[in-house]
Amino acid sequence: MCGIVAYIGPREAYPVILKGLKRLEYRGYDSSGVALLNDELRVYKKKGKVAELEDSLVGKDLHAHAGMGHTRWATHGEPNDRNAHPHSSASGRLAMIHNGIIENYTQLKQELMRKGYVFKSDTDTEVLLNFIEDIQQNNQCGLEEAVRIALKRVVGAYVIVLLDRDTPDTLIAARKGSPLVIGIGKGEHFLASDASPIIEYTKEVVYVNDYELAILKSDELILKNLGNDKITPFIQKLDMEMAAIEKGGYEHFMLKEIFEQPATIFDCLRGRLDVVKGTITMAGIQQHIEKLSTAKRIIMIGCGTSWHAGLVAEYVFEELCRIPVEVEYASEFRYRNPVVHPGDVIIAISQSGETADTIVAIEKAKENGAFILGVVNVVGSSIARISNAGAYTHAGPEIGVASTKAFTAQLAVLTMIALKIAKERGSIDTTRYMHLLNELHSVPEKVKEVLKLNGAIQKLAEKYKEAKDALYLGRGYNFAVALEGALKLKEISYIHAEGYPAAEMKHGPIALVDEALPVVFVATRDSYHEKIVSNIQEVKARKGKIVAVISEGDTIIESMADDCMVIPEADELIAPMLSVIPLQLLAYYSGVAKGYDVDKPRNLAKSVTVE
Ligand code: GLU
Repeated sequence: MCGIVAYIGPREAYPVILKGLKRLEYRGYDSSGVALLNDELRVYKKKGKVAELEDSLVGKDLHAHAGMGHTRWATHGEPNDRNAHPHSSASGRLAMIHNGIIENYTQLKQELMRKGYVFKSDTDTEVLLNFIEDIQQNNQCGLEEAVRIALKRVVGAYVIVLLDRDTPDTLIAARKGSPLVIGIGKGEHFLASDASPIIEYTKEVVYVNDYELAILKSDELILKNLGNDKITPFIQKLDMEMAAIEKGGYEHFMLKEIFEQPATIFDCLRGRLDVVKGTITMAGIQQHIEKLSTAKRIIMIGCGTSWHAGLVAEYVFEELCRIPVEVEYASEFRYRNPVVHPGDVIIAISQSGETADTIVAIEKAKENGAFILGVVNVVGSSIARISNAGAYTHAGPEIGVASTKAFTAQLAVLTMIALKIAKERGSIDTTRYMHLLNELHSVPEKVKEVLKLNGAIQKLAEKYKEAKDALYLGRGYNFAVALEGALKLKEISYIHAEGYPAAEMKHGPIALVDEALPVVFVATRDSYHEKIVSNIQEVKARKGKIVAVISEGDTIIESMADDCMVIPEADELIAPMLSVIPLQLLAYYSGVAKGYDVDKPRNLAKSVTVE
């Protein structure tokens, strides 16, 4: 959450920063702002989206060769101009942007107020900035030294970037817990929360680690730890193309990403799945196969959509590997006192690889001796680096705030891992193993078929757009898909939706059913098919509107439902990769029909780097 971008070098800084902010807007859009530095330090900021900031700056003096920008997802203080970043220090000499939360800011603020500091905003960021300035004034030291001293007292997560009016040739940045990438150009440096603002200028990047400080000039990058020791920057080549972060003719990133799924699932399987040889090649898994296949227990941890992927994977792993699996919300796991032993395997699932709760949950499990397997999308992200082993989902940059292609890629990777472990343990027979390999192999083509429902689902969304509530029901592998469908509808169309196991409906939610309630059944052909047919009857008897995702040729449900979305037949274990797609489209078109900005749903942001 929160996007930061900065530049120092021979170019005009403002256009680089503005473009970068637009690319990072998925991380937050409560407000945005820029600080530009040449002879003077100018700060401009505005509530709302980046376009509003841009409009407000027409005609202003924006000339500078060093500067930084921020797009905010508010944690401390309401979204308004005053709380927008960059913040200026009490003296006006320093400006700072921040991604994260300073947990002990109240205490620091009280100390500063006793010294006479007055605050212009309600943010934790302004407190840290003045704390740094105060240290510098008291110790008569340079900014770099003051930052180091301050950060030793800070509790919480941050990336901060500072500009000092007195040293216009230098940018200072530091990180703990939130992501920070430095782009290295020829005589210029870029800084950002992710690589998207950087790739059109350079492919050489350095990922800054926790407790590191970066001191940047146009032609010099110095990395240090908080103990003031120099660290040799590890320069990596970016493996990302511009097209991946542009809309490519689609109206929204969410729609583009839904339509990318045949390709992203293919990319995820490519080079790994070989149906002819009957093999799955995953080096990160193979190296640790002994540890994984002898696990006493597997705990999947994730948040939001990734947690739903964990729920599907629970059923897959238990079915194929016969290892007990639990699925935990990272935010709960980290604060309760879970029983974790050496011999337990934690599978941490995250699109961004920066999810704050998941990171802390991993650290906690590691302390107890568990083995951590990361399933993440963003290469080089924090979770990828702190895990003992891992497998990337290779879905490419996901920019729409509602996760779509990351979910199906997570399912594909988790299924491959389960198959590898099952093979190693001998808990799957060859016929079933080969059948599932072939089923997985056919997913990209089947997804193409599902996407042909696009026009029909658009009409369906129009039909139900005035609904106040919706119920999503599924059983077995499709239970988690029902949860995911409900989550998508909530976040994009703001229609209240609940996902439930279809049979549980009788224990409460059925009371909600009347002729105004759409009930979406995820009812592809599986071993519980007859059971879900009965559940549909139960809703129908109470005049609920039946919308169903069904397999080809299912005339039984077709004759009962008000509306059907028919998808290709697939093994029940693989079906969620297909059955979720109509629900993604339904949520997307419901949001569009209601006139909402589906790529930037209210109150949300992507890459949740705060707890
Ligand atoms: N805590 C800071 C604020 O509320 C930064 C939030 C962010 O990461 O965007 O302004």
